[in-house]
Amino acid sequence: MKSMIDKYFPEMEIDVSWYSKKRTIGYSSGHTDLNSLDQLVKDCQKCDLYKTRKNTVFGDGDKNSDVMFIGEAPGREEDEAGKPFIGRAGKLLNEFLKSIGLNRESVYIVNTVKCRPPENRDPEISEINACSDYLDQQISIIEPKVLVLLGKIAANRFLNEDKPMSDLRLKKFFVEKYDIPAIVFYHPAYILRSPSQKKRVWDDLQFLHGILSPHVS
Ligand code: SF4
Repeated sequence: MKSMIDKYFPEMEIDVSWYSKKRTIGYSSGHTDLNSLDQLVKDCQKCDLYKTRKNTVFGDGDKNSDVMFIGEAPGREEDEAGKPFIGRAGKLLNEFLKSIGLNRESVYIVNTVKCRPPENRDPEISEINACSDYLDQQISIIEPKVLVLLGKIAANRFLNEDKPMSDLRLKKFFVEKYDIPAIVFYHPAYILRSPSQKKRVWDDLQFLHGILSPHVS
């Protein structure tokens, strides 16, 4: 769709400035392909997290998906492998998706920062800000129709809030910067740490299913 608009509409002398404007509002889109952006991330030293990483963790999944999941930061296994959500939390995320008839290969998954914070601490605001241009560009290139924000940190960063999960779950938000709707879901690592929350997850999964099913096969 985007190549049709970019290529054929101007040839037919149809004004597509509205489309370009929508894609660039509020954030830069300097890189037009994920591979060159991935290479830039691999070389990045914009914050101190580069000093302790083994690998950068760029993103994974269907690059044409309408749905982008955004987590907080890579953990130990992700850092080892250079892929997001592959440890226990990743397996639980896969199970969540399966339980509502979706599969991981049909969505795209990223984190707010591309390098692992030491000892799996939360990423600091300065680190999230340093890394935000890469995420902006991933969103600009992939053009998802829905964002699923995994956990409080990703949610509050995107929604410009400082709210607890209880005020964020089971609601539909709109991220003006990207012109994209977003919903907030529990971070699977949190569920692993707090098994008592598991009973709440089913309601969230049903909500997730209702929003995502028109967008994935
Ligand atoms: S976390 Fe992001 S900004 Fe910081 S070094 Fe890694 S890629 Fe660069």
